[in-house]
Amino acid sequence: DLVSTDLIEEHKICVCVRKRPLNKKELTVRDLDVLTIPSKDVVMVHEPKQKVDLTRYLENQTFRFDFAFDESSTNEMVYRFTARPLVETIFERGMATCFAYGQTGSGKTHTMGGDFSGKNQDCAKGVYALAARDVFLMLKKPNYKKLDLQVYATFFEIYSGKVFDLLNHKAKLRVLEDGKQQVQVVGLQERDVRCTEDVLKLIEVGNSCRTSGQTSANAHSSRSHAVFQIILRRKGKMHGKFSLIDLAGNERGADTSSADRQTRLEGAEINKSLLALKECIRALGRNKPHTPFRASKLTQVLRDSFIGENSRTCMIATISPGMASCENTLNTLRYANRVK
Ligand code: ADP
Ligand code: MG
Repeated sequence: DLVSTDLIEEHKICVCVRKRPLNKKELTVRDLDVLTIPSKDVVMVHEPKQKVDLTRYLENQTFRFDFAFDESSTNEMVYRFTARPLVETIFERGMATCFAYGQTGSGKTHTMGGDFSGKNQDCAKGVYALAARDVFLMLKKPNYKKLDLQVYATFFEIYSGKVFDLLNHKAKLRVLEDGKQQVQVVGLQERDVRCTEDVLKLIEVGNSCRTSGQTSANAHSSRSHAVFQIILRRKGKMHGKFSLIDLAGNERGADTSSADRQTRLEGAEINKSLLALKECIRALGRNKPHTPFRASKLTQVLRDSFIGENSRTCMIATISPGMASCENTLNTLRYANRVK
């Protein structure tokens, strides 16, 4: 019946927007035209209405989402309304995904991985760690305890359409699809984890592996998707899986006009994967039998998370408040708006 289907669809996909605070650079930028730009911060978030308003930049640009978080929000708060409800899904034999989408510097890694700025290496407050914490709490509940589930974690990145294992010195991995359309990342390390501390260690290992040999952490991460997975197994068989993804910077699409061939190719690849992702999530929300997962490596690897009765997803679109980011912010809001 219509009513119940609507309810399910609404719960299957959750889209939220998170605005970060102005940073030092944005705070010190001089307003060239004080009359038309009354503030350095051009993004208004109306939390009770879950509304994001960009009309200071362009007329009639307001968007509504399931949730909208302003600059005072914490990771814990964002987590509670996005990934937290999906933890139960994997205990109920389901597949869950949580994506951080947005331009480089808007707060994707801060949200998912925790704070890695400067000497701060606090990954305990990122969505990866918060989800792991709740998985271990959930395991203690009597009805799940009796299932005797084992927890594993994987951490890999997709760069220019290739998969690299972040828990195994960036080993390049092949992706295979068998006759039953089952997709497998061959040789991906699945680490046995017993507690949140175990998971935190893996996040640190993976993160340092991700950025090793890079001149800047952001230069590399803006071009690659990082995928962290928590897998539940029962007698060796997959019971449920939670994939948490820190996506490549969405501004990279603009690189398709770059003079450098490599940069151009990378930009095209990122464009392709983000478009495919949007289509796959939309297909999931509409219970369409055909998900265009083959269109990119990202969606191919996540294939089993886009199909099936019990798949749920959430997207955290991160935005910067500054005037200089407006064009990208608008693109992010439009994309997030289209996902549902
Ligand atoms: P991205 O991963 O999208 O490129 P980052 O997560 O690296 O962006 O964020 C860029 C900078 O802004 C980092 O120094 C980060 O600590 C800071 N930052 C991001 N979001 C927030 C936030 N909500 N509160 C405080 N600082 C933030
Ligand atoms: Mg990042």
